[in-house]
Amino acid sequence: MLIGDARLFRIHETMIRNIKPAEFFPKYNAKVFQAHMEDLGPLHYDRRQDALLLSIHSWLVRTDHHLILIDSCIGNEKDRMPRTHWHLLNTPFLDNMRTFGVEPSDIDFVMCTHMHADHIGWNTVTSDGRWVPTFPNARYLFGKIEYDYWLKNPSKDRVLRNAFEDSVLPVVSSGQAEFIEDGFELDEQCIIRLLPGHTPGNLAVFIKSQEAEVVFSGDIVHHPVQIYEPDWSTSACTDPCSAASSRFKVLDYCVQNESLLIPAHFCPPHAGFVRRVDGHFVFEWI
Ligand SMILES: [Zn+2]
Repeated sequence: MLIGDARLFRIHETMIRNIKPAEFFPKYNAKVFQAHMEDLGPLHYDRRQDALLLSIHSWLVRTDHHLILIDSCIGNEKDRMPRTHWHLLNTPFLDNMRTFGVEPSDIDFVMCTHMHADHIGWNTVTSDGRWVPTFPNARYLFGKIEYDYWLKNPSKDRVLRNAFEDSVLPVVSSGQAEFIEDGFELDEQCIIRLLPGHTPGNLAVFIKSQEAEVVFSGDIVHHPVQIYEPDWSTSACTDPCSAASSRFKVLDYCVQNESLLIPAHFCPPHAGFVRRVDGHFVFEWI
């Protein structure tokens, strides 16, 4: 995909097919969900299983100056029990990256929108029984607020706690981590902004080239139904009210600026434009 001169490549890892909408959205209403069914794209819900369909992938962005990996999925060989379908994965993620002619050593920046286990896993791989950075020449950009939060509040959830320990701390020990704040300019085409609520330090990546803009919003928009029902935060959000307000903000921004929106987990076609029709947000898939 081309945004101005910036090139975007999607690196697939896996799919999530076992989350029931009524469990994921505390404000879930079956009638409302059904009413939006036709708007939500070809792949967003498995009717037979009553399960949301979410894709786990990374985006690789080549700007004029840098090669940036946005979010790094679940990763291989990671202890993620009791979440069995994330446990000890063995996916060809790095080979999928190589199909675009990119080696791990080519990555200049790894940008993690937040520190949930499905956004940091490929930060590290095992080497001689310890976790080391997967991308030897990259600077890893971690939100300062996000990092401080998980450091000071180790999660009671074993999966989240393990992920922070095996996919964030080894990067910090290696000296490759850089802690960033709201408004960080990676280069003149890439700016990072804080959109808190899903996690305290959730960041979004704004890439602009030749007047075209794309917004990688992390998990502030998790599933297409949240464009139509922006106050539906998820059970995974640390602060549902703040998440809803960040969601309104980014959706409104995309309307005003005609920016392409790419949330972290949308299934094909993965991206679209947000429009406002009769006072409501709607999504126009690309
Ligand atoms: Zn996620």
